[in-house]
Amino acid sequence: MESSLEPYDDAEARLTDGGSRAEFATRRGGRRRRRPTKTSGAEATTEAAPTDEMPEAEPEVASEPVVEELAVAASPVVSSAAKPAPRERARGGRSQRGGFSRRDRHQPTITDLLREGQEILVQIAKEPIAKKGARITSHIALPGRFLVYMPTVEHVGVSRKIESDSERQRLRKLITLIRGTEDIPSGGFIVRTAGVGISEADLREDVRYLVRTWLDIRATAEKTKPATMVHKDLDLVQRILRDQLSDDFAAIRVDSEEEYENIVEFINRIQPRLVKRVKLYTRDRPILEAYGVQAEIDKAIKPRVWLKSGGYLVINQTEALVAIDVNTGKFVGRGSGRLEDTITRTNLEAVEEIVRQIRLRDLGGIIVLDLIDMEERRNRQKVMQTLQDALRNDKSPTKVLSFNDFGLVIMTRKRVKQSLERTLCAPCQYCQGAGLIKSPQTVCYELLEEARTLGKAMNGDKANKQATLRIHPEVAKALRSSERDVLNEIEEYLGPVDINSDPMVHQEQFDFAFI
Ligand SMILES: [Zn+2]
Repeated sequence: MESSLEPYDDAEARLTDGGSRAEFATRRGGRRRRRPTKTSGAEATTEAAPTDEMPEAEPEVASEPVVEELAVAASPVVSSAAKPAPRERARGGRSQRGGFSRRDRHQPTITDLLREGQEILVQIAKEPIAKKGARITSHIALPGRFLVYMPTVEHVGVSRKIESDSERQRLRKLITLIRGTEDIPSGGFIVRTAGVGISEADLREDVRYLVRTWLDIRATAEKTKPATMVHKDLDLVQRILRDQLSDDFAAIRVDSEEEYENIVEFINRIQPRLVKRVKLYTRDRPILEAYGVQAEIDKAIKPRVWLKSGGYLVINQTEALVAIDVNTGKFVGRGSGRLEDTITRTNLEAVEEIVRQIRLRDLGGIIVLDLIDMEERRNRQKVMQTLQDALRNDKSPTKVLSFNDFGLVIMTRKRVKQSLERTLCAPCQYCQGAGLIKSPQTVCYELLEEARTLGKAMNGDKANKQATLRIHPEVAKALRSSERDVLNEIEEYLGPVDINSDPMVHQEQFDFAFI
């Protein structure tokens, strides 16, 4: 199995590869072609044959490019006849030579292993790039939510990325138990990193889903003609459902009838008991607007977030860390309330909203919270407790590293993908992402400098020409009011200036013209 993807986090690889996975390649072996060799693009069909010594994290990574399966080769051979073949070949004498190392370059050629016209089921492990054909393998790996199912490999493992020994043991025991009690046609499972802390019931559900998927694939393969795609990896909607859906969701709403049917069909396979929660949205109002999603997205990319009490957060993402500042704003305790109580209430409200914003914005890495200073230790503990309770619902692992007496909290959150801001936004082209532009006052002084230079260049010719100045309305306003002196000095250099205020001009820009 391909190990070139190893450095990627599994979730990341899945996301970034998503787009290209829609394509699929078909290969025709056999009938008219003499040798289904390199020219046909089948780079190494059996190279990846895993053995029992296979390192445990490999399949998880390798499973990510799981793409589409397709039945290969036009031939009169029924597909079922070829089914057991891949394993026999992998285990049979030849390929075992030298202990079968993955680095072993002396592999049998493809013609030793495949007969012309033989029908096999393969998976695309790597998309074709430029002139290089797709890498295909007969060792199917199907990723589920917590597991990767490998129908052709009798192996049970746990992703190497799960570090805790006791958790690894627990998962291994569980999966072995489930494998022994469920009706599984063949093969083994690897627990993915997402499987940490997962219950037996959830694991079992994933096993059932994967086995059903595999049986469907086999059934389809038998019915279809060769060189047909028999299974495609999940699309975006399905991947979201697979990775996020749980009992916590009250409803799944969708505004497309076609997608609705797909979702019902899909949930029926992965979590049948939740299928009634899928609802078709038919009203005229756009669905994202009706449920306030658009408004939330707009809010989630702005730095300032208002709290119900009138306080607010300011969220700033920098290269190194995310800083979240809590402010009381206009919120001051009514009458009898002590300031300390007001502050504590704001902080309590703030930490709940902060956790929500962290999830909404997908903020990761180091996150520093600057809460409002609280005097009493008791209150600090209360806020800390609320923060940690709120973080418990976050699917991404977080860790609060410190909470000092001045209300400064340092925490980390696992970065799974780019933040919402980085996904939806590009740096502002006006300020190059600085978030600031020159003030009207500064621009006025720049105008003055320019006027002085121009005046010198004209050498007292000012009487013959009318100067016009095209500027942003804010700058024009400043010149006529607070920066009146500047305008006077400019007119000393250039004579009377005709000011043309134009909202289309960038605030930092100006144009002198002489007619
Ligand atoms: Zn800007």
